[in-house]
Formats: sequence, C-alpha cells, structure tokens
Amino acid sequence: MLRLTLLGTGAAGGVPLYGCECPACKRATEHPTFERKPCSAMVEWGNGSAKERLLIDAGLMDLHSRFPAETYHGFLLTHFHVDHVQGLFHLRWGTASPIPVWCPPDDQGCADLLKHSGCLNFLPTMTHGEPENINGLRVTPLQMAHSRPTFGYLLEYGVKNIAYLTDTDGLPENTLSFLSELPPLDALIVDCSFPPDHSGRNHNNINTVTQIYLDLAPKRLIITHLGHDLDAWLMEHGVPEWLEIGRDGMTV
Ligand SMILES: [Zn+2]
Ligand SMILES: [Zn+2]
Ligand SMILES: [Zn+2]
Repeated sequence: MLRLTLLGTGAAGGVPLYGCECPACKRATEHPTFERKPCSAMVEWGNGSAKERLLIDAGLMDLHSRFPAETYHGFLLTHFHVDHVQGLFHLRWGTASPIPVWCPPDDQGCADLLKHSGCLNFLPTMTHGEPENINGLRVTPLQMAHSRPTFGYLLEYGVKNIAYLTDTDGLPENTLSFLSELPPLDALIVDCSFPPDHSGRNHNNINTVTQIYLDLAPKRLIITHLGHDLDAWLMEHGVPEWLEIGRDGMTV
C-alpha cells in the first residue's frame, strides 16, 4: 500500500486570501470544502496493519494536534520558503525525541530554524537522483526550478510510484530526463499556482503543467499549490479530462 493525502493545496496566501472578495475567495469563505491551506501532504505505506507515515512539508500551524509525537517518522521538506516550514517554528520547542527532517541543502534555511532547531534533526544529506530508503519507502529527491534550493520527491513502494513536485516553474532538464526513463507514474502531484499565461515566475501555470503532462504522460495528474486567481479562473473555464484539481483532504 502506498497512499498520499493532500493536507493542504494552497499557494502562500491560501484560499480564501485575507481581505479578498473575488468569487473563489467568497466561495471558500461560504463553503469550507473549497478552502486551501498551505501546500503539504502525508505519505503512508506498508503491508497489512504495519503502516508507516511521513509528512511532506510543514506549513500547517496545527501539526502538533493533528500529528502527536511518535505517530510519524519525520518530515520531507521541499524547501525553506515560509509557507512550507512555518509549522516547525513552535513544534521545534517540543520535548519529543528528535524528529528527522530531510531537506535540500540550503545554508540560509528560514529565519533561525537551522540555528535553533530544538527537537528537529535537519538532514540536508540527500542528492538529486539518488534514492534513499526510509523504513522501506524508496525516496528519490529531484531538483526543481524555484528561487530556493528545492527538491520534489519520487516515492516508490513495491510496484507503485508517486511523484510530488512542488514548488517549481517547469521542470529542470535533469529531473525531466530522470522521470522520462521510468515507467509512467501512477500519480504526479504538481505545482500549478496560476491561470494560463500568467506572468508570475517561480511556479507553474496551466500551460506549463500541460507541457509536463505531454512530456511524462502520467496515469494521473493532480495539481496543488493553487492560488485564488487560478481557482477563480477554474470557476469560469473547463479543464481537460486528464487534469485533476487537488483539494485539501484528497487521497491518492
Ligand atoms: Zn510554496
Ligand atoms: Zn481571491
Ligand atoms: Zn516556494
């Protein structure tokens, strides 16, 4: 069994965006199923009752109550932007036994998180394209195209594979060629923050995601890290059948 649950699917400001009255933000205010919390996920794997668990990114501010100590192995961080690590700022002062936090090498980290790491054990030890075995789960970091050192992760267990690729604007050549050599992915979860032709950099829009779909032809493609203006655009436009819109709580 390999299962991924999207805990949050929002861009940095989330949906509803504070103070915004666009149709997407209004809808999310009225119907909490359309809310988008900071982009993050939970991976579970194992046979029978032996279930193992890792959290990808730590932007949620209620991690301590949702995931008591010892109920997961640790964190896989994609990068040190605030919306992906803010939940660690109070978690670090806990008395839990050291929590491993695999992360890309980034000397800056985020504020004083690396300097005063408390119960967090940061492990900037992984290299692009080199798999690591974490309690039976094969985890391969893949370089993303973003303004900070950023890893997407290929997750493999048995014959199942899922790639979780955010934050990124397109895919760098080395990552694209690595994924092209694999059998088609069972699921690709990918950054899509903006409507088509949006000039914002650093993140995919609908057009760049379409190109990634054409390049990799995954069995399922699910977008995450959505901004409110993409949600507003999606309320007015259809999407191709192959594109699934991620929602908080969705399981893959
Ligand atoms: Zn982000
Ligand atoms: Zn809005
Ligand atoms: Zn980012």
